[in-house]
Amino acid sequence: MPTDPYTWLEESLATIHRADWYRSVQTIHGLPGATVVLSEQQVINFASNDYLGLAGDERLIAAAITAIKEFGTGSTGSRLLSGHRELHRELEEAIASTKQTEDSLVFSSGYLANLGTIAALVGKRDLILSDQYNHSSLKNGAILSGAAILEYPHCDIAELKTQLSQQRQNYRRCLILTDSVFSMDGDLCPLPELLDLADAFNCMLLVDEAHATGVLGKTGAGCVEHFGCTGRQLIQIGTLSKALGSLGGYVAGSSTLIDFLRNRAPSWIYTTGLSPADTAAALAAIKIVQQEPQRRVQLWRNIDYLKKLIQQHLPNLKLLPSESPILCFQLHSTTDALKAGKQLRDAGIFAPAIRPPTVPTSRIRISVMATHQTAHLEKLVAVLNSNIATTVS
Ligand code: PMP
Repeated sequence: MPTDPYTWLEESLATIHRADWYRSVQTIHGLPGATVVLSEQQVINFASNDYLGLAGDERLIAAAITAIKEFGTGSTGSRLLSGHRELHRELEEAIASTKQTEDSLVFSSGYLANLGTIAALVGKRDLILSDQYNHSSLKNGAILSGAAILEYPHCDIAELKTQLSQQRQNYRRCLILTDSVFSMDGDLCPLPELLDLADAFNCMLLVDEAHATGVLGKTGAGCVEHFGCTGRQLIQIGTLSKALGSLGGYVAGSSTLIDFLRNRAPSWIYTTGLSPADTAAALAAIKIVQQEPQRRVQLWRNIDYLKKLIQQHLPNLKLLPSESPILCFQLHSTTDALKAGKQLRDAGIFAPAIRPPTVPTSRIRISVMATHQTAHLEKLVAVLNSNIATTVS
């Protein structure tokens, strides 16, 4: 009897609905910024990764338009075939210079940078040790590599050391994976301790600087700079799509590492080179990050001010520990988190609920931007006060 091999899709979606895990897209109209139009409603935007407010900056837009006029819309091929342009190299040199690494390699997204790099560095005879809260791209890169994977409890250096002591000698190579800023919590990895452990156990260390680039460190180079670890041997991944306001990802490290990845990272070799527009916009953003440190200063002023307001006016609202623009507070259930997200939205605040399976416990995630005005932050706290305060206490 003929059966429909696709019926399970509807059943699966019904399960997702029942768990309150169903997700759908929301349309933003117009330029991105501290306020946006979301389904015809003007809202203050606390949902964006555009930490420095560069995604709608006229200089990035102009750079992208010029690049399109000069080089066209598409790169037309993989970088090793017809897809490489001078612009790509310029961007890679600018990233390496910011990071103070020997070289860098630009991928079509941060996700692809993680997948390709991890899969190229380790294989069946190797071990990956991965923080339990790492981003999906690190976790899936680990699976793709075929290496044995051990997750260590979040930022737990003692447990990581125990795992290394017990397991390291059973494997050829070992790679430790960590976000630098944890994307759904906002806290930082203990980078100096991780580097020391990596040295002690002869492991490679890969740090994902997606949410730290442009945000942390004196020059905005990221968490590595923030912790004074510039120049130490490690593999830095990042994205051009958050504080840098464009699209694309990168790996920064030694020239040998980059040369190796150009020959072995499947998600770099077998995909079309980053578009000229995205490449040029990212390059323009890196220059702005270097030339306008006041943007980062303003971002940190906004973060500190918002934390202070929350402490003063919402003493029961316990933010998760954070040293970044990402501020989260947990709710008792997924239903409560969805309700809170809707209440905020109705009051003109866009700060979405983040639910399992993305995170273990449901929460509201607030993402601060340099371009938020004092009034935006004050309105957020007033709305939280009148809508959410009782739900979280
Ligand atoms: N790593 C982390 C920690 C991220 O948060 C993200 C994006 N959410 C990525 C990697 C992927 O970056 P991209 O959006 O450039 O693919």
